[in-house]
Amino acid sequence: MKTLETNGISYILYKASRKSVAITVKRDGSVHVRAPYWMTRSQAGRFVKQKTDWIRARQLVLQREPTLPPAGPERESLKKQAVEKFRKLSLPWERRFKERYGVAPRRWTVRLMDTRWGSCSFKTGRITLNVRLFYKPLECIEYVIVHELCHLIEQAHDKNFYDLLTKELPDWKSRRKKLND
Ligand SMILES: [Zn+2]
Repeated sequence: MKTLETNGISYILYKASRKSVAITVKRDGSVHVRAPYWMTRSQAGRFVKQKTDWIRARQLVLQREPTLPPAGPERESLKKQAVEKFRKLSLPWERRFKERYGVAPRRWTVRLMDTRWGSCSFKTGRITLNVRLFYKPLECIEYVIVHELCHLIEQAHDKNFYDLLTKELPDWKSRRKKLND
C-alpha cells in the first residue's frame, strides 16, 4: 500500500490478485487504486492519468452530497423518515412483482452504506436501501427499488437482468444517471 501522485491526483495503490485495475473514489474524496501484482507503479500511474477527468468528476459529485446528521437522535429521525418515504415508493412495486413474477422480498432494511445505493441478497431475500437515498429525487429512489427487486429474479448483472429491468422501468438509464451525477 503506497500513497502516490499522478497528474495532481493522490491515490493509494494496493496490489491484489486480480486481472485488471479498479479505481474507487471514496466519500471523503480519497482515491484507491487496486492493481494486479504484475503491474508496475508507472503502469498504474498511466491508468490513473487516463482516468483523471472521471476521478475529478466523482470527487465533485461526492463533495456536493449532503452531510448526514451525526449518529444520534437526529440521524435516527432521518432514518425513520427515510423508511416511510421508501415504503411508500416500494409498496406498489412490491405488489407488482408479486403478481407478475411471484416474488417478494422477505425483508426491507434501511441503513447507512458507504459505496452502494442498495443491495439485494438472493439467498435471504433481504433488500437493503441506503439511508442517503432520502436526499435523492423520487425517480432515482424508485430506480434503486426496482433494480433491487429485479435481483430477486435475476442474480447477476447479465443480459436477462437488464432485459427485465428495461421491461419494468424503460427509462432506468436516465434515472441512474441522475442518481450518480
Ligand atoms: Zn444490482
